[in-house]
Amino acid sequence: MNAPHETAMWPESEPEAASAPSNRLKIQRETHKLEKRLCRLVSKAIVDFNMIEEGDRVMVCVSGGKDSYGLLDILLKLQRRAPINFEIVAVNLDQKQPGFPVEVLPNYLSQLGIEYHIETQDTYSIVKKVVPEGKTMCSLCSRLRRGILYSVADQLKITKIALGHHRDDMLHTFFLNMFFGGKLKGMPPKLVSDDGHHMVIRPLAYVSEKDLTRWAQHREFPIIPCTLCGSQENLQRQEVKRMVNAWERQYPGRTETMLTALQNITPSHLMDPKHYDFKGIQASGQASEDGDKAFDPEPIPKPTIPGLGLITPIA
Ligand code: SF4
Repeated sequence: MNAPHETAMWPESEPEAASAPSNRLKIQRETHKLEKRLCRLVSKAIVDFNMIEEGDRVMVCVSGGKDSYGLLDILLKLQRRAPINFEIVAVNLDQKQPGFPVEVLPNYLSQLGIEYHIETQDTYSIVKKVVPEGKTMCSLCSRLRRGILYSVADQLKITKIALGHHRDDMLHTFFLNMFFGGKLKGMPPKLVSDDGHHMVIRPLAYVSEKDLTRWAQHREFPIIPCTLCGSQENLQRQEVKRMVNAWERQYPGRTETMLTALQNITPSHLMDPKHYDFKGIQASGQASEDGDKAFDPEPIPKPTIPGLGLITPIA
């Protein structure tokens, strides 16, 4: 009775065994490509925005999430082959959230053999005491964290503070500000801190979250969950994330195009008089190839990315 079934099973297992090495090779090739892409994009951001210079002492803020692990990992790789010398100090702030596994980051960073500092400050109790039950704690929590990280940067004689925000975070922030704040304002790749003393950089500015997720899986980073504080991710951010992801599914490549747009702005074609002197403009009498053809619709460039052709230009 069993014989026919046993025979029928063979063809299924046989090809799987035969294809295992080629699958492994494929995965290795993909991982190698991913590593090259991450290194290339991080180097590009560093060069494009002059993020790291000779002699810098870069503090990499490591939270235990996939993005900051990825940032540290890639910066360490680049440090070995960079044409300039710079130092890396990994810093974690233990905010005393319940269940925070205190040994995970020190163990990981010790194994790497790099300079690191764990700052322990109980901001969790402060936030819990001050913020009424049911209200979001993130704003006060981040304000306290920021202040502590700045003072740690001073103590450690840091010249640049590197954060693990990636391309998608930056886009989401841009849309959040536009939809809910009425501002065209994103998350810059490099900025001077609000206390005016520190240079903050975001070397993952060109890197997608998808790539960071895959890299974290490949490197098996000991991830610390980000939900320990019990606070929910902001609902508006969730909504924007869903919207951007849905666009990307429908029109692959749109996220990349939107990021390009953030680097390609035309203040004279927006409406902010602080950035363009609309009151003072005068006709120069000279024809200009780049001048505005006010009555014609803006030509939409031919799509170079599959799916973009599906967008209907608005006349
Ligand atoms: S999610 Fe929790 S740890 Fe993160 S900023 Fe909000 S309150 Fe702070």
